Amino acid sequence: MRVFYVLLAMTFLFVVNIHAQKVKKVLFIGVDGVRGDAYVHRLAQDYLRNETADATVVYYADPDIAGHTNGFTNDNPGYYGEIVQFDRYVGDLMDAINAPPSRANEEWLIVSTSDHGGFETWHGGEHLSERNVFVVVARDDMEAKEIKRSNTITIKPEDALPVAELEKYGFQDVPTTFDIAPTILHFLDIETSGYNFDGKSLLK
Ligand SMILES: [Zn+2]
Repeated sequence: MRVFYVLLAMTFLFVVNIHAQKVKKVLFIGVDGVRGDAYVHRLAQDYLRNETADATVVYYADPDIAGHTNGFTNDNPGYYGEIVQFDRYVGDLMDAINAPPSRANEEWLIVSTSDHGGFETWHGGEHLSERNVFVVVARDDMEAKEIKRSNTITIKPEDALPVAELEKYGFQDVPTTFDIAPTILHFLDIETSGYNFDGKSLLK
């Protein structure tokens, strides 16, 4: 079984190939501050095509850097362009994962998310544009479904979204990054009841 984990803005790709319910080898591929995402991406593709590990994380940083430089908004061409580039990267990595012949004998979990968005040129506050991130989870036998917030009360990107108001705006059942660890462990058939996670598995 394998897990694939993608995180955008700061961006992670996480791949797990589990044997006997134990993660024995973990690989982290991330930026060194000099060579950037193109270099990371080459390494990641090579790894996925030629090696196996129990868990792999690939971290892309260029969208975050572009956001800090000129703003985390669609009308910043640098930021937008980096996200488009990241989307291409994910496609390349999926091609590498799906390359025959090994794929036929493997079971994969794909996870994609971001640990934050941004507001103006920074993040760490409570604006919706900083806190509202996507979480994508996919596996071979999973039905496609989009989970949105449970009401349509207007909230703008520049509005504050304190934890206490998540329910008011209908976010209580929307998947979050808290759900990722329990989801991956569930996929790996590892017992999680002792961990007291804030999140829950997104798998049935
Ligand atoms: Zn940042």
